Amino acid sequence: MKKVVSTILLFLVLGTSHALGQVTAINAGRLVDTDTGTVVSDQVILIDGGKIQSVGKGLAIPPGADVIDLSQMTVLPGLIDCHTHLADGAHGAGDPIFQLQKSASQVVLESVPNARVTLEAGFTTVRDVGVYRALNDVALRDAINRGDIIGPRMYVSGAYITITGGAGAMTGFAPDVQMPWDFHYGEANSPWEVRQKVRLLAHNGVDHIKVLSTGAVLTHGSNPKSVEFTPEELQAAVDEASHFGLRVEAHAHAAEGIKNAIRAGVASVEHATLIDDEGIALAKQRGTYLDMDIYDEECIQEDARNGKMPKDFLEHDRELGEIHRNNFRKAVKAGVKMSFGTDAGVCNYGLNAKQFAFMVKYGMTPMQAIQSATSSAADLLGHADLVGSIKPGKSADIIAVSADPLKDVSILENVQFVMKSGKVYKQNGAAVLVR
Ligand SMILES: [Zn+2]
Repeated sequence: MKKVVSTILLFLVLGTSHALGQVTAINAGRLVDTDTGTVVSDQVILIDGGKIQSVGKGLAIPPGADVIDLSQMTVLPGLIDCHTHLADGAHGAGDPIFQLQKSASQVVLESVPNARVTLEAGFTTVRDVGVYRALNDVALRDAINRGDIIGPRMYVSGAYITITGGAGAMTGFAPDVQMPWDFHYGEANSPWEVRQKVRLLAHNGVDHIKVLSTGAVLTHGSNPKSVEFTPEELQAAVDEASHFGLRVEAHAHAAEGIKNAIRAGVASVEHATLIDDEGIALAKQRGTYLDMDIYDEECIQEDARNGKMPKDFLEHDRELGEIHRNNFRKAVKAGVKMSFGTDAGVCNYGLNAKQFAFMVKYGMTPMQAIQSATSSAADLLGHADLVGSIKPGKSADIIAVSADPLKDVSILENVQFVMKSGKVYKQNGAAVLVR
């Protein structure tokens, strides 16, 4: 019996190592340890089965290993953008009503390159926080996970949970036009309706829940300074989501709506544009992340110069941009937890890293900006065991740049090497064809 058991064990061990396959070794000239905020030099990273096995100086490289030479590079964990909209089709600035000129399958197929350029820009993970056509993001995530298409690891929300006519609703059409089901999937107008939507989304396999606490900039008939969901509705969202092990992020511009969301227990506030001192103190006390997209104002203004932005959106936006950035500076100074989110889709896809330089310009150290997109982002997602730093047991999500990002963080706009789950997607600055 003992012999049978040990034979089975031996078979399991051999079977496993065979499944794990080829060991890859990376020689890293400099490596950013995002957990401790330090940089170490001359490290060897050993990777097997898509996971990091070990990291250290002078580690023995097993014979037959694939060796990747990044000895002249600075190596970092794959970046994480906590606020993207990859599944909304080709980037089209302006009126969201253009979404009605396309079928859902057209939109999702147009989204395929969005996923690819995001990964090639060094973002190996995204938290995708809402989509005009419900569940397109679930389809995109699953296609990436199956290996059908190339893209980052996606955590998706399935739809916006919003009041009727609110920040996450499709608006601007005549009242007698009947919207297709997927354009108003997440509309809810009481705590119980909010719970029903959370249940529906959880059943459809989402990874987190997005609620709209206040009005929005890029929605017709919406005022970013207005409160939309009540505290009761926000609490219902957080409580119901917790039954499914899901976290909630809240879109909020107005100060009161930001505080309502923090008090309700959301994991992060998106935008947090008009956060006041009380809101900053509350976020700090509750450990709530602020996910402030301070770069995309550049793209909104550029679209405006090109005449691509509806007038009412610009009206919303005009005074908010600079206040937003100053509030970012205040929140950083107060020591609030900050995550990296760009609202990708407002700017074109693949430009996510342009926000790093702005984060440094408005008060972060380069290391803080990098941590917001790695270790802090992983913590916000609840996946610090998988992503966010280069540590044994985590997914082999690794990028490299040719200069020191702690001296000039904008070098992250030129990522030279991208690996996700142990597979190389970009090398020497060029995309690698992946089977
Ligand atoms: Zn957004």
